[in-house]
Amino acid sequence: MKEVVILGAGYAGLSTLKALQKKAGDFHITLVDQNDYHYEATALHEVAAGTVPKEKITYPIKEVVNTKVTTFLQDRVVKINTDKQEVELENNTALKYDYLVVALGFRSETFGISGAEENALEMVNIESAVNINNHINAMLKKYKETQDKKYLKFVVCGAGFTGIELLGSLAEMKPKYAKVAGVKPEEIEIYCVEAATRLLPMFNEKLANFAIGKLEGLGVKLLTGKPIKGIKPETVVYQDNAETEELAELEAATIIWTTGVSGSFVMGESGFAERRGRVMVGEDLRDPDHENVYIIGDVSAVMDPESGRPFPTTAQIALKMGDFTAHNILRQLNNQATETFTFKSQGSVASIGNTIGLGQVGNTSVKGYPASFLKKIIMNKSLAATGGMKQMFAKGRFDLYH
Ligand code: NAD
Repeated sequence: MKEVVILGAGYAGLSTLKALQKKAGDFHITLVDQNDYHYEATALHEVAAGTVPKEKITYPIKEVVNTKVTTFLQDRVVKINTDKQEVELENNTALKYDYLVVALGFRSETFGISGAEENALEMVNIESAVNINNHINAMLKKYKETQDKKYLKFVVCGAGFTGIELLGSLAEMKPKYAKVAGVKPEEIEIYCVEAATRLLPMFNEKLANFAIGKLEGLGVKLLTGKPIKGIKPETVVYQDNAETEELAELEAATIIWTTGVSGSFVMGESGFAERRGRVMVGEDLRDPDHENVYIIGDVSAVMDPESGRPFPTTAQIALKMGDFTAHNILRQLNNQATETFTFKSQGSVASIGNTIGLGQVGNTSVKGYPASFLKKIIMNKSLAATGGMKQMFAKGRFDLYH
């Protein structure tokens, strides 16, 4: 019997598992994750801002594991030893594999900016999102004791998809934050410092301006064209003027880091040919150096033949890669040649709080409540793809308010 080992129970890992479990055969699966739950990484900003509790965006991994075919092991992957076909784990003995699926996900990227790791809050998993929410509440309470305005100030570093969605949720929570601090909502100050001058380049200009207008309407102050140069305790240091390289400082007790992500450190530790934790895979999603190792999701880079650049890492592509990997593993198990992965993005949708969104599906733009509704449909589809109907009905978004 062949052993298939899947590392990571995110969008990519669980969609592989689900597709493989449907086709029981002469193989056994071991799924490894450091947590005993799956979380929806696309909704971390909601837990961080406090619009939903962590239970809303998580479910137990065991609920999707068919124990007749699969063993779930809760452990942390330390290293992959491709020569021995083994996975080194923190607490268990090394796992042997015949086929390996590496789907270990993302981590925060600081680009070596000084003080970012120590003085800004990252938002990469449930633990860090809950930590942000606890921090926010603690700072608001500190304001009550000290009346120091820095405790009412938030800075989001980077206005990519993650930063924009986080800003929307933070702005939506202003009335609740104000209550905790005992102030008026207008006194809660939310800033974003972003290096680029044109925000949301994946959307057309009209849509991007719609998002900017909505955020500004909610009182968010967007500082664009201002690359962050360092983070000191409770202070963001950024380049204020491109010509003079003049630096400016912004003081705030809550500084959240959303300037981009890289793949898991395990990729580098294991000697894969990686760049920022991502490995350029072949067209069948296998590591070019190992014919029994698939690398998918945020640790993978897949070339988009149309743009000549790798596809951006999204939940959408991760789910598709998982499904396709199961298909190719089944082909290999049947001594058939692997097939080529193809991907056509169905578009992108971002939320600004719970009831406003913006999206581009092909040449069609959608904004406002319809886009927010579309985002909820997409989230429900993702839930169904990893957790099945049970999780979709238990944790899905079916009403106006979450
Ligand atoms: P990102 O790389 O898309 O955005 C990071 C932003 O930070 C960029 O705008 C960049 O200019 C800015 N930045 C980088 N360094 C900076 C500095 N020193 N100073 C100031 N600004 C700086 O990262 P992300 O938003 O974390 O997204 C990661 C991936 O996940 C992307 O591919 C994104 O499309 C995807 N994602 C998708 C959705 C969605 O589809 N709704 C939501 C979240 C994330």
